[in-house]
Amino acid sequence: MSIQNREVVLTGDRPTGPLHLGHYVGSLANRVALQEKYKQFVMLADAQALTDNYENPQRIREQVTQVVLDYLSVGLNPEKTTIFIQTSVPEIAELTVFFLNLVTVSRLQRNPTVKTEIGQKGFGLSIPAGFLMYPVSQAADITIFKARYVPVGEDQLPMIEQTNEIVRTFNRLYKTDVLREAEAIIPPIARLPGIDGAAKMSKTLGNAIYLSDQTDLIVKKVMSMYTDPNHTRVSDPGKVEGNPVFSYLDAFDPDKQEVARLKEQYQKGGLGDVVLKKRLIEVLEAFLSPIRERRKIYEADIPGAMEMVKRGCEEARTVAAHTMQQVRAAMSLDYFTS
Ligand code: ATP
Ligand code: MG
Repeated sequence: MSIQNREVVLTGDRPTGPLHLGHYVGSLANRVALQEKYKQFVMLADAQALTDNYENPQRIREQVTQVVLDYLSVGLNPEKTTIFIQTSVPEIAELTVFFLNLVTVSRLQRNPTVKTEIGQKGFGLSIPAGFLMYPVSQAADITIFKARYVPVGEDQLPMIEQTNEIVRTFNRLYKTDVLREAEAIIPPIARLPGIDGAAKMSKTLGNAIYLSDQTDLIVKKVMSMYTDPNHTRVSDPGKVEGNPVFSYLDAFDPDKQEVARLKEQYQKGGLGDVVLKKRLIEVLEAFLSPIRERRKIYEADIPGAMEMVKRGCEEARTVAAHTMQQVRAAMSLDYFTS
C-alpha cells in the first residue's frame, strides 16, 4: 500500500516526566512495531499535561525534550513516525470546543480512569474543569488525524470508548461521515504495576523505573521492590500473582521457560527474593543498554532532534487543518468558502 493510503495510528504521552517501563510495555513497544506498517502520529500531550500542572508550565516545557529523547532512544524513527507537540496544532483545541457540546458533565464524571485519577490527585470537589474534560480533548487528538488504531495501555480504554461515542454523535447530528471511530490496540501485558506493588506504574505515583535510569538506580529500585510480604524465609512458599517482580520478568525476560520454572519454584518455596531480583536486574540491564546507547547519540544533538519535531508539528498541522475544513463544512461554519 502506498504511504498515502495507509491507515493512521495515533498515540501520545503527557510530558509530565520521563517515560518508564510501563509506557514501553503498554504502548511504546507497539508503536515501534506499528510504524513499519501504518502512518503513525505520536503526540507530546503538553496541553493535557497542563490540566493538572497548570501552575508549572516550565516543568512541562522541560519534559518535552526528555520525552523526545525517550522516543528516539526506544526506536521511534522520525522518517516513519510524525512526532509533534499538541499545542503546536491549535486546530485540536478548536475541535475540542465543538466536541464539548456533545458530552455531559455526568458522563465525564463516570469515566473510570478520570474517577481514579481525581481520587489520586486529591482534587476533592475542586476539580479543574480542564482536567475533567481531558478525555474530550483526547477525542479531538485522535479524530482530527482520523486515526484508526490507538496503541495504548488498559487505562486508556475508557477514553477510546468516549471518543467513539463523540464520533457517532457528531456524525449523526451533522449528517456526515468525516470523523471515524478508532480502535485500541492493547498489548498482552496491558498494565505494568509499580515497584511498590500498586496496580499501575505511573510518573505521578512515583513508583516507576524510567527508561533513562542508570544502572545504580536500577539496582536500587529493583532491590527495594515490593514482593510477597509473607515470603520472609527462602523456604517459604511465595505468591506469584500481584508480585511485580514476576510481572516485570513476564514483560522483559526473553526466556519464558525459565520464568515459568522460577514461578513454580517460588510458589513451592526455596527461591529467595534476592536471587529473583538479581535476575531481574540483569534482564532489565540487557533491555535498557541498547536504549541507553541510542539515547547518547541523540543527546549529543538536541537541537537536531527538536528540528525534527518542528517538522513533525508542521506536518501534523497540515493534516489537522484539512480535517477542520471538513468539520466546519459539516457544521455549516464554512462562512467564506463557497
Ligand atoms: P501521568 O501519571 O502523568 O498520567 P502516566 O505514567 O500515567 O503519567 P501517560 O502519559 O498518562 O503516563 O500515559 C501514556 C501512555 O502510556 C498511555 O497509553 C498509557 O496507557 C500507557 N501507560 C502508562 N503507564 C502504564 C503502565 N503502568 N502500564 C501500561 N501502560 C501504561
Ligand atoms: Mg496517565
